[in-house]
Amino acid sequence: MPELPEVETTRRALVEPLTNKRLLDVTVRCPQLRYPIPRTELKTMRGQTVVAVKRRAKYLLLQLGNDTIMIHLGMSGSLRLLPAEAAGPAKKHDHVDFIFSGNVLLRFNDPRRFGSIKIIKANELARFSQSFGPEPLSKDFDGQYLFNKLSSRKSAIKKMLMDNKIVVGVGNIYATESLFDAGIHPLTPANFLSMTQCDALVAAIKKILKKAIRAGGTTLKDFYSATGKPGYFDQKLLVYGREGQSCVNCHTTLCKILVANRSTVYCTRCQKQAATAPTI
Ligand SMILES: [Zn+2]
Repeated sequence: MPELPEVETTRRALVEPLTNKRLLDVTVRCPQLRYPIPRTELKTMRGQTVVAVKRRAKYLLLQLGNDTIMIHLGMSGSLRLLPAEAAGPAKKHDHVDFIFSGNVLLRFNDPRRFGSIKIIKANELARFSQSFGPEPLSKDFDGQYLFNKLSSRKSAIKKMLMDNKIVVGVGNIYATESLFDAGIHPLTPANFLSMTQCDALVAAIKKILKKAIRAGGTTLKDFYSATGKPGYFDQKLLVYGREGQSCVNCHTTLCKILVANRSTVYCTRCQKQAATAPTI
């Protein structure tokens, strides 16, 4: 599943090719992804120019004049940039083409169709943005913020980290990896975390996300290739997906448990369990 680093990598790859380009046409080949695709409204946006390519949580925001095209990659979505004049026929699951001036074509592919394409008006953008917690890489997300936010929450910290109202874009992989990095057991009741632990956890999240974004940058050439896969990248993961293997720090065999129905790998020695169980 595309997580925040993949979405941010995609955004960065789109900024230069799309900024100041005019939307010439939109081809929609499937009526519905997660939600119906607003084909008619997209057509009425023809002629508008892309003024910015932004991201909020895992949504890509193509800002054109008064309207913003909001793209979510869902479980399996990806975007490719192709030369419009030589894009070739659409392949299976190539559901939408956005054709821009300057011979630029942006193609949305999504085999599982959990992605979405919506249009949001300029005056609705702020409210949309405020419906989420802070961006993990912003200054607003710091140890004090997390400590305050968790002070009355008794759920497992892992579940809280994956809550978009607390912080956006920390999915299963990054929650698992960050808790290991900070030495915090995933089932620790959130309100048990000390200020020091909150500082360590925030630092771990920022460090791991930044590293993943940097890794993504090195595979951007794949993103541009006409035939290649999008720029999702192999990452050096220390615990996620490594159950049964040995901890890189202490060589204890890593365990797997379910937290809020998501598989969670951790080290029983490096991530000590609190005396009290969380309220799930
Ligand atoms: Zn360990």
